[in-house]
Amino acid sequence: MKNAWEPFATQLIGSGYACSAEKQEGVYQDSLVVNAEAALFLTRTQSGKKLIVLGRKESSLFTDIVAEETGNILDVPYKVAALSHPNAVTMRNYFPFMKPVPFGRESFSMGLGDRLGIASPGHLRCLKGTQIRPVLAQQSIRELTLTERTYKDVLDAASWAVLQEGFHEGFGADGDHLKKPEEVKMALDLGYSMITLDCSEKIDNTVNALSASEVAQQYAKLAPALKQEMESEYLGKTFLVGKIPITFDAESLQRTVLTYGATLAFIKEIHTTFIAPRAAEIDFELSIDETETPTTAEAHYFMAAEMKKAGIELTSVAPRFCGEFQKAIDYIGDLAQFEAEFVVHSAIADHFGYRLSIHSGSDKFKVFPIIGKYTGGRVHVKTAGTNWLEALRVVCRVDPGFFRKICAHSRMRFPDAAKFYHVTTDLKKIPDAETLPDAALERMLNEEDARQLLHITYGYILTDKDAQGAPLFRERLYQLWDENEDAYADVLIKHIGHHVKTLKSLMNKG
Ligand code: ZN
Repeated sequence: MKNAWEPFATQLIGSGYACSAEKQEGVYQDSLVVNAEAALFLTRTQSGKKLIVLGRKESSLFTDIVAEETGNILDVPYKVAALSHPNAVTMRNYFPFMKPVPFGRESFSMGLGDRLGIASPGHLRCLKGTQIRPVLAQQSIRELTLTERTYKDVLDAASWAVLQEGFHEGFGADGDHLKKPEEVKMALDLGYSMITLDCSEKIDNTVNALSASEVAQQYAKLAPALKQEMESEYLGKTFLVGKIPITFDAESLQRTVLTYGATLAFIKEIHTTFIAPRAAEIDFELSIDETETPTTAEAHYFMAAEMKKAGIELTSVAPRFCGEFQKAIDYIGDLAQFEAEFVVHSAIADHFGYRLSIHSGSDKFKVFPIIGKYTGGRVHVKTAGTNWLEALRVVCRVDPGFFRKICAHSRMRFPDAAKFYHVTTDLKKIPDAETLPDAALERMLNEEDARQLLHITYGYILTDKDAQGAPLFRERLYQLWDENEDAYADVLIKHIGHHVKTLKSLMNKG
């Protein structure tokens, strides 16, 4: 759309000057958007990023934007506005590309959760021009608590990032690992386009350790009607997924029903109450990955079949794969076994029409070729917040002394953080940052044990305070990242680019 203000806005952008009494530090060239009555773009000032609006004073968009400063430049009315929540809401109403959208069951998408609220520009620059759809907002409740952010902040940061980068192809927002009804409601009310329902608390992991006779005893106690229904549908039957047979004998059926029975009721309740009544389409993902019990072929098939029977259309499912998907390091486990099981999980997903979702996908370079090969790119891969480590890489390069202090604090906080994450970090293998020369300091971000240490302690680094109650690191960190925005985008392009390349390496060759 063209309007009277666009040429003027373009002229201002070109000259790098964009109104405001404050000193300008540059304009985001790709951020220009126009509607019938206004032209808008983003600029950098000494007090952060601002939205500039030029347009007809009486127009609704011009009026709706809450300004910090108003004036005229060469007789054109302008407003300088903060990137606030009310302004984000207004902008999403006028410019729908700033709203998250569902990606459905066919796409290749990546979850690129942005813990700090500053990583999305780099992620977008990396994925621009690829077929991969970005889920920019992806935060679990645990991550929110650790970073002292809200779902509003997370979504707004994503919306402003797509505006800044001129990315109009659509992004997703994932309420990740939600476990409670009120969390699902909150994410949907804010406009999140995806819900990842975490069923881990409903899965009975004790069944795994029971003998066949103990399983039979427990199963015998279930309601007769339930047993009858399950047996008539599954017992002794063989189901073909692609060319792969999946058979339920008495023991495998009993184990599956005992392990996942409570999970089914929970998913149905959430779906009926929150997902089904919404007019808008929602990507609905089932996560059974954060549990001790690896998902068997029978269990995966059973869950999918029960969902289909209940009329629940899943967009994606995250099974618990064999081996370990620990944070920020490569896959640990038997690759041949992983491949053999992945083929089956992938066939089940294809059979029911949804996509597999791979969680904790950061740095899992050993398994990416397998994932690419069998899914052909019809898959969702969630990266696990390693953009935080890349942000520390910028700190390490720009201010090594400050980075050493962070390393020391992280080591002190490790015992607290290790309670929340399953990691095998060996502190003895981590070099002492104090003794490393500047040139060798990035070892802290390249070696597995050091990476895990800095990865899982992020909440403490961001929120710990000194005796006077002032943040130890947070303010200096954000200032440093703000001053080095392009350097941060560049390390992310390299980091995520490596993921994309490896995922695509065997695609279409399977
Ligand atoms: Zn997960």
